[in-house]
Amino acid sequence: MFNKVAFIGLGLIGSSLARVLRANHLAQTIVASSRSPRTLSLALDIGLIDAGYADAAEAVLDADLVVLAMPVCATQSVLAAIKDSLKASVIITDVGSTKGNVVSAAETVFGIVPTRFIPAHPIAGSEQSGVLAGKVDLFDRHKVIITPLPHTDAEACLLIQQMWQVAGAEVLTMTVQRHDEVLAKTSHLPHLLAFSLVDTLARESQNLDIFRFAAGGFRDFTRIAGSDPSMWHDIFLANEQGILSALDSFSQGVERLKSAIVAHDSDAILGILTRAQVARHHFTHMLAGTAYQKTMNTKNLQFVVEAGGTLQGNLRVPGDKSISHRSIMLGSLAEGVTEVTGFLEGEDALATLQAFRDMGVVIEGPKNGEVRIHGVGLHGLQAPPNALYVGNSGTSMRLLSGILSAQKFDTVMTGDASLSKRPMERIAKPLRQMGAMIQTTGEKGTPPVSIKGNQALKGITYDMPVASAQVKSGVLLAGLWAEGETVITEPAPTRDHSERMLRGFGYKVKTEGSTIRIQGGGKLTATKIDVPADISSAAFFMVGASIAPNADVVLEHVGINPTRIGVINILRAMGGDLTLLNEREVGGEPVADIRVRSAKLKGIQINEADVPLAIDEFPSLFIAAACAEGTTVLTGAEELRVKESDRIQVMADGLITLGIDAQPTPDGMIIQGGQLGGGKVVSHGDHRIAMSFAIAALRANGTIEIEDCANVATSFPLFVELARGAGLKIKVLEV
Ligand code: NAP
Repeated sequence: MFNKVAFIGLGLIGSSLARVLRANHLAQTIVASSRSPRTLSLALDIGLIDAGYADAAEAVLDADLVVLAMPVCATQSVLAAIKDSLKASVIITDVGSTKGNVVSAAETVFGIVPTRFIPAHPIAGSEQSGVLAGKVDLFDRHKVIITPLPHTDAEACLLIQQMWQVAGAEVLTMTVQRHDEVLAKTSHLPHLLAFSLVDTLARESQNLDIFRFAAGGFRDFTRIAGSDPSMWHDIFLANEQGILSALDSFSQGVERLKSAIVAHDSDAILGILTRAQVARHHFTHMLAGTAYQKTMNTKNLQFVVEAGGTLQGNLRVPGDKSISHRSIMLGSLAEGVTEVTGFLEGEDALATLQAFRDMGVVIEGPKNGEVRIHGVGLHGLQAPPNALYVGNSGTSMRLLSGILSAQKFDTVMTGDASLSKRPMERIAKPLRQMGAMIQTTGEKGTPPVSIKGNQALKGITYDMPVASAQVKSGVLLAGLWAEGETVITEPAPTRDHSERMLRGFGYKVKTEGSTIRIQGGGKLTATKIDVPADISSAAFFMVGASIAPNADVVLEHVGINPTRIGVINILRAMGGDLTLLNEREVGGEPVADIRVRSAKLKGIQINEADVPLAIDEFPSLFIAAACAEGTTVLTGAEELRVKESDRIQVMADGLITLGIDAQPTPDGMIIQGGQLGGGKVVSHGDHRIAMSFAIAALRANGTIEIEDCANVATSFPLFVELARGAGLKIKVLEV
């Protein structure tokens, strides 16, 4: 990459980069200039450099790369000293923690910043310093920020980028100003606070006692006060503006917390602490490159399920996702404290939770599925500080569109790459008819979605062109603030969780046939919600217990909303032994404990009226059909081809591998019941397919291996543990 590289300064950062160049043979010759002769002689002793110079100007002669790796305030004097010794084509780069003052030093010395001057900053380091502290892997999986100027030479920039990539770093570019603002907040301010706290305590007369009893918190918080004072002295002065403004907003934050303590304002204190706790987790996962929640899907997992086993006992499967979302939304908008149990701590529902925290709602938890929401009433939401990020959750974005259209403030909602391709006009159109100012992006009307506040909404009569529970719910929620009545008619029945939960919060919603009516101007009253277990997750155990010998399970507290009970109807029609016990209503939703015992299943023609009520449960129902006597025929289910995978094809492929006669059709499947064998099947990353084939092992005569199972954690976090506890012989391998 280079003939000769000259380092000016060879401490922690400079020597680490020199080690990378050496180890990867990126330079023929490496030389350095440093303040003390000892640094140079040590570097020569360990073979890190080929020559050392007291005079920087001598070091840079003929160099094609010069790396400035000394404290940032020395930049100007160093550049002035080497200016006349540089060859014309030299690339100069630096590693300084501030960029504004480095660039202006270059400008002062050269008149205009040279085109081949590439300001850079590795976001890696430690409290140690000096040439012996350097490590070849210091930058591995860390970020390096490059801050090119408009006239910077692209080729030189690329070369520096490549050099850092060889060091294992991820390279980002930013403007100089943005860099200094961001680093002031994320690095310079924390260092300043740590130095200041330790100094303040050290000055107190009782200091010895204080340090003697210093607990883990003090140690963790002040670790960085052990950093090199001269380097930080330079940084504080070099980024004065950025640091002072970060310090101002921090002081305001401390003042807010202090006032809350003085006033014994528990809500305010809890609000600050819970927001901070969540943000901390959120940042940790962002830094680790994962989303809100650490799921298994960072690794590739394989399920290996031995033939046989059975299912026994009482099981509670995770909470329903749709209801978890709505509990946060309505709890936030209600008056009083709503207590939620059984909340599904999956990424989507957590995105909704975060959005409401961003709008000032104090939400405690989730901890073991328990959440306490301190509702702010229909008029209490506050403008979020930034765009609301809802990850991959279409439910959050569509339902929030309705809520945000009625607020006094402007908002923008963004999502991840996959959500950013999904259509949002379906919900924007009816909201516009109500008077909302809502804008989607691009020709296809996708996220980001921008909403202008302070619009007076009025009720509309809306005949939905396409059946969609999300669109229906978004419009209904906007109707809470609309003048007059909002009337929605559905072309086909969809899930009615929103209507039910609104009623659970004491709000009147009328349903007559396919028409739903809501009157604006009421209020929601806090309640307790025990989120029903998700019938889609329970379905695996319903099928499993039906096909396994000697099985007897009670699935506790399962939601049996009439729009979701297709799996119960179909299994019963096949001869399944399912009993609903203890039927009751929770937060407007019907729930029951479902007892399922082994049964001799028979093949049937599935009633098309049950298809929309069981659409997510067909992968497991196909397994039931494979174990039934005779032929099962499914029609009218073309939607299965466009789920997380083509569920008709993928299930048929897997069943055939396991020795079953399964014939895919354009809108369903024909399955001849038989003996399931062992084999290796592929889930194509579809969580429901993976769990269905796992359950199939209960009736197979050989081991079933299932590839690509990491996504199971997103919808059913403890599936493996629960299934194993009940008697399935399942193992998970990391591959
Ligand atoms: P370090 O270990 O203390 O090394 C500093 C080096 O600069 C030493 O070789 C020192 O020479 C030399 N030096 C000091 N003053 C000099 C001067 N006036 N002229 C020429 N050389 C001089 O520091 P470091 O951690 O490597 O930091 C170097 C740069 O990296 C700084 O700009 C810092 O902002 C940046 N940085 C540091 C970190 C971190 O965590 N440490 C992270 C990212 C970026 P002697 O040893 O011979 O005295």
